[in-house]
Formats: sequence, structure tokens, C-alpha cells
Amino acid sequence: MTDFEPFLVDISTRLKGYRDQGLRVFATSSFQTQSVPLLHILATHAPDVPVVFLNTGYHFPETLQFRRDLASRLDLRVVDAFSPLPRIHQRAADGQLLYLHDPDYCCYLNKVAPLEPVQATHDVWVNGVRATQTENRGRMTEESRTKTGLLRYHPLLRWTSAMVWEYRVRHDLPAHPLDDAGYVSVGCQPCTRQMDPDAAERGGRWFGLKKTECGLHLDGKGPP
Ligand code: SF4
Repeated sequence: MTDFEPFLVDISTRLKGYRDQGLRVFATSSFQTQSVPLLHILATHAPDVPVVFLNTGYHFPETLQFRRDLASRLDLRVVDAFSPLPRIHQRAADGQLLYLHDPDYCCYLNKVAPLEPVQATHDVWVNGVRATQTENRGRMTEESRTKTGLLRYHPLLRWTSAMVWEYRVRHDLPAHPLDDAGYVSVGCQPCTRQMDPDAAERGGRWFGLKKTECGLHLDGKGPP
């Protein structure tokens, strides 16, 4: 059994420290099963922190319902962020939707760009990346600065997927409704597929492509 207490003390101390310094804090969440512990911790220790949901318009209906249910159950301040370019205009020259033609640019328009105004008006960004998820995340530290000076805080960086599961079960928190259907990591519907539970945690995202990140966590990577 994991002793979560030291983690929780450290997280609440840091969140309080940011607030005591007058820093403007926000969080992001994709509202999947892995997101639940961080959302619960924020609801418990920093309920005033807004949680930004990048509403790409490509989410599974189950994710949107899960977002509503969790926001209500945990009394979260969830804020939707939308792409500055309407989806109808997100097409390649041949008319194909961008996620088919250029997923990096689609992710830029729907995930990176919508967060830029939020980043510009805050000082600290709390997000739930974990080191075991991708090589890129394995190189991260708990706190780091973006090129624009925003402080990134990754409270769950050293948590394993087993710890995420254990925390959720111990607090009787729900799983994403697609969890049981084999969706280990849930992102946008066109770019997510079911996987064997033993596969890499994010193996079902952008399956068959070299892409492993949407770009949010590749600091400084601007539009292609
Ligand atoms: S995950 Fe897919 S659909 Fe979603 S923004 Fe990225 S490329 Fe577009």
C-alpha cells in the first residue's frame, strides 16, 4: 500500500506557497481516468484553481459526460478553451480534415493555441504528466519554466499508473466510462484506439504514427 501522505503534504505546501506569493495558478485536465487523482487533490487542497479543459470538438461523448460528472461531484471550476480557428476551417488544401492530413498542426490549433491566452494571464500551470508516460515526460522535473517564463508544476510526475489506480480506488473515485472497453488513454476520438491492457499506457494515441505528444508538453514548439 502506498503512503500518499508525503506526496499530498508536498503538493498542498507548494500550492499554498504559490498562492502566498500572489501567483496566478491554473490547471489543465483531459478528464480521463489518469486525471482523477489530480482533480481530487486540487478539489481538496486548492478548490479555487481553475481547471482548463481543451475542448477540441473531437472528444468522445463519454469524455464530455465524465467531465460534467466529475466537475459536479468534485465541485471543480472547469473552464473550456476552444481553438481560435473554427473546425470547419481546419482543413488541408485538398479538403481533408487536418487530423488526417497533419495531426501536429491539428493539435497545435486545438490544444496548444487555445491554451496560449490562458498561459499569458497566469504564472503557474499545474498539469498531471507522469514520467512513465513518454520519453519526453521522463526527462521532465517537478517544476520547470517554459520559454515564456511560466512555471510548470507536475505534482504527479513520479507517480506510477498503479499509484493512480490505488489512489482512485481508495477515495472511491470513478474511472472514465471507456476504461473497461480497453481505452487505456483517452484523447480525441479520431486519434485514440483501444489497446491491450499490457501495451504502453499511451500506445493507443496516434496509433501507427511516431507522434506521442500533442505539443502541450513540448515547450516552445510553435506552429509547424
Ligand atoms: S488529437 Fe487528433 S483530433 Fe485531437 S487535436 Fe490532435 S490531431 Fe486533432
